[in-house]
Amino acid sequence: MAVRIDGKAVAAKVREEVAAEVAELKAQGVETGMAVVLVGDDPASAIYVNNKKKACSETGIYSEVHLLPTETTQEELLALIEKLNGDPKINGILVQSPLPRHLDEKLVVEHIDPKKDVDAFHAYNVGRIMIGDFTFLPCTPAGVMKLIHETGLSVEGKRCVVVGRSNIVGKPMAMLLLHENGTVTICHSKTKDLAAICREADILVAAVGMAKLITADMVKPGAVVIDVGMNRSENGKLCGDVDYEAVEPIAGYITPVPGGVGPMTIAMLLKNAVRAARLQNGL
Ligand code: NDP
Repeated sequence: MAVRIDGKAVAAKVREEVAAEVAELKAQGVETGMAVVLVGDDPASAIYVNNKKKACSETGIYSEVHLLPTETTQEELLALIEKLNGDPKINGILVQSPLPRHLDEKLVVEHIDPKKDVDAFHAYNVGRIMIGDFTFLPCTPAGVMKLIHETGLSVEGKRCVVVGRSNIVGKPMAMLLLHENGTVTICHSKTKDLAAICREADILVAAVGMAKLITADMVKPGAVVIDVGMNRSENGKLCGDVDYEAVEPIAGYITPVPGGVGPMTIAMLLKNAVRAARLQNGL
């Protein structure tokens, strides 16, 4: 039976460290500040934004939420980003995705000052991640790395398989595993014989968005299985990409959904905010 990696507990530890760092900076006269921008009224996005606001306040980070109507124009949104770029109270800027269709998400992200890009989505920061010399770690992949470290196992020399190649999860995830000397394969919707490739993995990261995609026959006995996916099952319950009940008896370590990668993403975001505050104050 796999050891369950408790993302909630690990995230709580990270948050404690962040709170201590925020307090230490405050004692030096530096306040950490974050701005979250939400355009439109997507209910899931509103929940994510509220969670981020709550996490900031619990760790002593100043935060402001900018709620903009769905019909906000590209120019208006870019003007707000420019204003936040120049606001010394704000160290980190985050634009909640998805944006309404008429807005160009890529252009918006490229307008964020890379020094305030706490999501690490700006091409500059993505490039820094590629070369392994980065300021901000991408939040979800960094959270996954922390959960892997929690097992006490080293990534070095391990066969790592990442299922999913998005710019925000799959690709940076593969880079972080590579930086720790894993032998990494990235799979996607055009991959042939996904099951055979997954079965080779000592470390398997699923980041697709498809409930129960990873079944028991796709997992090597003893593997570390990390489930990034966030889906709704037929009965409306939150679930990941891994068929948890079937895989748990086979894997060595496994993350649950909820309570695995999800809490880590916000914790790593807070870490990036403190890092931004330090750097912007020459500390
Ligand atoms: P995307 O939709 O951007 O990417 C999904 C990836 O999965 C694509 O690369 C796609 O391939 C691949 N894929 C689709 N179908 C298959 C298949 N049948 N076999 C193999 N690969 C497939 O999603 P994200 O990366 O943004 O997110 C992935 C999941 O992680 C979602 O459930 C999301 O909600 C969750 N998530 C969770 C977070 C957390 O904090 N826990 C944070 C961010 C995301 P192709 O490129 O060929 O289309």
